[in-house]
Amino acid sequence: MSTVAGLEPDAVLASVRAFVDTEVAPHAEEWDQAERLPRSVLDRIGELGLWAPFLPVEVGGAGLDMVTLGRIHEEVARGCSGLRSMLTVHGMVSWAVGRWGTDVQQERWLPHLIKGEKFGVFALSEPDCGSDASADGTLAEQDGTDWVINGHKTWITGGQVADLLLVFARTGPGMSAFLVPSDAEGVEITPIPNMMGIRSSMAADIVLRDVRVDADALLGPQGWAAGTIMTGALDLGRYSVACGSVGIIQACLDACVSYTSKRSVKDGRLRDLQLIRRKISDMVTNVRAARMLCEHAGRLKDSGDPAMIMAAWVAKYHASTAAVAAANDAVQIHGANGCSPYYPVARMYRDSKIMEIIEGSTELQQTTIAEEAYREVA
Ligand SMILES: Cc1cc2nc3c(=O)[nH]c(=O)nc-3n(C[C@H](O)[C@H](O)[C@H](O)COP(=O)(O)OP(=O)(O)OC[C@H]3O[C@@H](n4cnc5c(N)ncnc54)[C@H](O)[C@@H]3O)c2cc1C
Repeated sequence: MSTVAGLEPDAVLASVRAFVDTEVAPHAEEWDQAERLPRSVLDRIGELGLWAPFLPVEVGGAGLDMVTLGRIHEEVARGCSGLRSMLTVHGMVSWAVGRWGTDVQQERWLPHLIKGEKFGVFALSEPDCGSDASADGTLAEQDGTDWVINGHKTWITGGQVADLLLVFARTGPGMSAFLVPSDAEGVEITPIPNMMGIRSSMAADIVLRDVRVDADALLGPQGWAAGTIMTGALDLGRYSVACGSVGIIQACLDACVSYTSKRSVKDGRLRDLQLIRRKISDMVTNVRAARMLCEHAGRLKDSGDPAMIMAAWVAKYHASTAAVAAANDAVQIHGANGCSPYYPVARMYRDSKIMEIIEGSTELQQTTIAEEAYREVA
């Protein structure tokens, strides 16, 4: 299988589906238990051109539309949410460099990010603040033309294999974004073991102690990163997580249809029992509804419509809560087998819960979406 660049969306999806069925899904359990992804699968993502395929062809991307990107992330999540998470954060960093980088920054980083030769991570959350990014305590102070950064970032997806950190830090009253090489002096990366879900995504805690970077590390406008780079990257991340949640629901549905077709109990085959059928019907309905909400958000993003922001919130809210419900039912349908490592649904149960926390938690969505409704009425 070669790169997806130049292929029609249907061919892209067929290629990604085949990759997931043969090279991802069969190994997801093993990667989950090992708490890491092998280099070989990350290299395959690079060979297929899937790290940042939405970037324009002129800079080496595939110029892929957002709807197709979302379907790719859905497919990858159907096989392994840990791998989808890596695509999400790396995509957010690549987007930020592509959208806000100077010529020098783009020449330095983009070719490597697009091929996956350098892995980018999104370093925003801190031990004392997650949902409320305005409370971030990381500081960047100017020293001549250099910047000196001190702070503590945590839960950073892919942090263990990071080459480039997109670090958000306070610069006076506002927040700025910095491109920090992971091998800069003063960067200390510590793996976070035993996460509940998306365990193969190699999360890390990152301390920055007097990390000195030059003026070229500042990405975008100084002091204005919150409303520009951070918002834009989080929009993309939220969309990806919504699509990833659709992949989890689809995987739960596939597993349950297969299992209930083979397993019998006293009253007959599981697939013939009405209470089981109700759960399957809910999964079918929710996966279709969630996919449509994602496609709607993707289409708005493709057309540059600002309504995409709320559409992504709604898609992520529905898809992530529906994924939790589907995974809960999937474990129930599998009985004790569902609690074992021999069937994929226990992993999906753990992975789905994470989707309700990252890229805007369920509670934040519940308040934000309602706020929009009142604004529209006013
Ligand atoms: C597996 C995993 C991977 C992650 N990867 C990354 C990454 O790559 N980069 C990164 O920067 N961060 C990452 N995070 C962190 C993630 O973004 C935060 O966990 C998330 O923003 C929530 O913040 P918090 O955990 O500090 O919860 P808190 O902000 O402390 O919230 C705790 C609870 O309070 C609720 N809450 C908060 N505010 C309100 C409110 N106003 N009204 C009602 N309820 C509220 C929340 O919904 C939540 O249920 C990751 C987290 C996980 C679990």
